[in-house]
Amino acid sequence: MSYEIKDDINEIITRLKKDEISFAGKTILVTGGAGFLGSWICDVLVEQGAYCICLDNFSSGQPENVLHLMKRNNFRFINHDISYPIYFGFSYHPLGICIGDIKKIDIVMHMASRASPFEFAKEPISILKSNTLGTMNTLGIAKFHNAIFFYTSTSEVYGNPPKDAVPTSEGYFGHVNPVGPRSCYDESKRAGEAFVKAYELQHQMRTKIVRIFNTSGPRIRYGPEFGRVVPNFIHQAINDEDITIFGDGSQTRSFIYVVDEIEGLLKYVHNDEVIGEVINIGNDKEYTIKELAEIIVELTNSNSKIVFKPLPIDDPIRRCPNIQKAKEILNWEPTISLQEGLKKTIAWFKTNE
Ligand code: UDP
Repeated sequence: MSYEIKDDINEIITRLKKDEISFAGKTILVTGGAGFLGSWICDVLVEQGAYCICLDNFSSGQPENVLHLMKRNNFRFINHDISYPIYFGFSYHPLGICIGDIKKIDIVMHMASRASPFEFAKEPISILKSNTLGTMNTLGIAKFHNAIFFYTSTSEVYGNPPKDAVPTSEGYFGHVNPVGPRSCYDESKRAGEAFVKAYELQHQMRTKIVRIFNTSGPRIRYGPEFGRVVPNFIHQAINDEDITIFGDGSQTRSFIYVVDEIEGLLKYVHNDEVIGEVINIGNDKEYTIKELAEIIVELTNSNSKIVFKPLPIDDPIRRCPNIQKAKEILNWEPTISLQEGLKKTIAWFKTNE
């Protein structure tokens, strides 16, 4: 199987078109626009004819994710760390750099944040900053432009929920260690959500929060120091290396393919009637990590052996969303199976890794 990213972008656009969803004519700021999910968003927006401003400092984003967009006249790239202020439509501001020629932004999508548990140990401060100061800075931009503010939060705000809170609904408050190895991410995303709600309350802003569950697909990063479970296992399987399961592999996750995820996010961004809601966007089919390893070994015809390593501290035991709210109010649900998504991701890895 060969893989073409364009086919998947077209699939998202076709699905959105069915619901008459287009961002043509809108000016949209995407922070983290060179990252895994951010770059998919930029691709769809540019194809649809929006003016897409991609802001990234390549801390985890990759130039190759957006290089092909640089020649498009409705795409603008700004190299900036969103933890520091930036002002659009100002020719001078004492507190930060200014982009004077962009006078009006319609939508701000704050997607900049590293999400790999390996990086929680290496870069905790920049993760904390982009989810707190970065959220404040982007809220400030949205406030000035009277723009819709869209915040990509995470299933991590639920921490390690007890059995009776899985599948997890938006109303669950979380079971999070504030001083553990994952706290730079979990707690700062929680603080980011609180920032969003504070701006909504105090400035009557139109805000939207999604909680994203484990997403994978082409462009997800692989590296021994930052790989998430899907890219790690695929890399190991296609190179016949040992597949490293942390713990006994009985912990669960639910995996959504990037096409389904991006469709869900954009459906919410576009929906003018749904404002102020927190919505889970993920796949509600739950797999153990051992099952995931076995499926990847089978799909790659790999000779890899499965080996077991210690389970990281505070690694959530189960993670699966309740997506009833997204089904009801966005008329959205994922349609791509784990196997189908993995086949495409594997094909992409074989040619692009
Ligand atoms: N995991 C694993 N082997 C790896 C990487 C991750 O067994 O090489 C496990 C990890 O301990 C966790 C699950 O896979 O239980 C999902 O990990 P991931 O890094 O994708 O992120 P998380 O869902 O924990 O944020």
